[in-house]
Amino acid sequence: MNKKIVTDIDVKGKKVLMRVDFNVPVNEDGSVGDDTRIVAALPTIQYVLEQGGSLILMSHLGRPKGQVKPEYTLKPVVGALAEKLGLDVGFAGDCVGDEAKEKAAALQPGQVLLLENLRFYPEEEGKGVEAEAQEAFAKALADLGDVYVNDAFGTAHRAHASMAVVTKYFESCAAGFLLEKEINYLAKTLESPEKPFVAIIGGAKISGKIDVVVNLMDKCDTILIGGGMAYTFFKAQGQTIGGSIHEDDKMDLALQILADAKAKGVKLLLPVDNVIGDDFSESANVQIVKGDIPDGWEGLDIGPETRELFSAEIAGSKTVVWNGPMGCFEMAPFAAGTNAVAQAVADADCVSVIGGGDSVSAIKKAGLADQVTHISTGGGASLELMEGKELPGLTALTDK
Ligand code: AMP
Repeated sequence: MNKKIVTDIDVKGKKVLMRVDFNVPVNEDGSVGDDTRIVAALPTIQYVLEQGGSLILMSHLGRPKGQVKPEYTLKPVVGALAEKLGLDVGFAGDCVGDEAKEKAAALQPGQVLLLENLRFYPEEEGKGVEAEAQEAFAKALADLGDVYVNDAFGTAHRAHASMAVVTKYFESCAAGFLLEKEINYLAKTLESPEKPFVAIIGGAKISGKIDVVVNLMDKCDTILIGGGMAYTFFKAQGQTIGGSIHEDDKMDLALQILADAKAKGVKLLLPVDNVIGDDFSESANVQIVKGDIPDGWEGLDIGPETRELFSAEIAGSKTVVWNGPMGCFEMAPFAAGTNAVAQAVADADCVSVIGGGDSVSAIKKAGLADQVTHISTGGGASLELMEGKELPGLTALTDK
């Protein structure tokens, strides 16, 4: 990575303003539902503290849309983080203003302060806000710290104040270890994959993944397409698809993708059979069909032959990236395709990178998380990397 990382800057005796992604689920009793994102930020937090720095941590939680909404307070994170660190963690009930200033000014080396939800201010996301107001908000955040670190990979695709504006007020802005690790795995894998390189793309719609398919077309040997997006391809090729999810306005695009793959010598495989249901529910009647899907039925998973076909491609690969489920895996009758792909990826002797919330939860649910090379902590950010886009939160950091 050509950006400074936290080990490249001097944090001793400094107040480190650090953007983290503590957007954790919170239970009704106010406890943290899943501390994965807190744990993911610990290496950088601990490094700064060990080096004799203090930390001012800032994050968003949920979508309060620029308003103070108590249900989106970051307070629940204080206890969870304190427990993990074995230290007291301070809290400022507003991310800017007098309380934050006073508490930040009083911080001693080895101490940690968490600021309240950044998104209580519309200036954080910047929607409907004048550029000057956003800059003033970013400057108020910047004034709290001496140096800046970004370890919020999950939000790095957003050009928000705490990531892409605050940086202009610091001489040196560095990436934390989580951001560095994510970029190294994903970007490096995409840049110089060992061949054969297989991409597995699923999910509900073509429109959500089209840029990934287009970008990977120039890098991959094989693209496996499953999930709801497959049915637009089928319809475009003249098959009947019953009530399956599809996008009529993307049929030309689907045909173009097939033609491009052919022209570029990329093996693009669509499902050869489908699991169909007569209802979008766990209790639907289920059939396996090849070709046309009758009226009153919809395609909800890849079929057994496709599972074998896709698994064989994955087994022969040296690099795999996977984004999006092969079917409605949340419902047991339609989970077999996604599970088979998860198992094939886990079994393959290859570098495997899983990005995207649903593929990650599928691989975790199958108990295979420790058998893949890298599981991305950021769905949207990893998707944008797969699309070949720059991440504003990364671009804003200081070059090495
Ligand atoms: P995405 O966010 O685009 O990755 O889509 C993930 C969602 O796509 C999951 O909630 C799946 O249940 C859904 N999905 C996958 N296959 C299908 C399908 N054949 N029909 C409807 N929804 C699907």
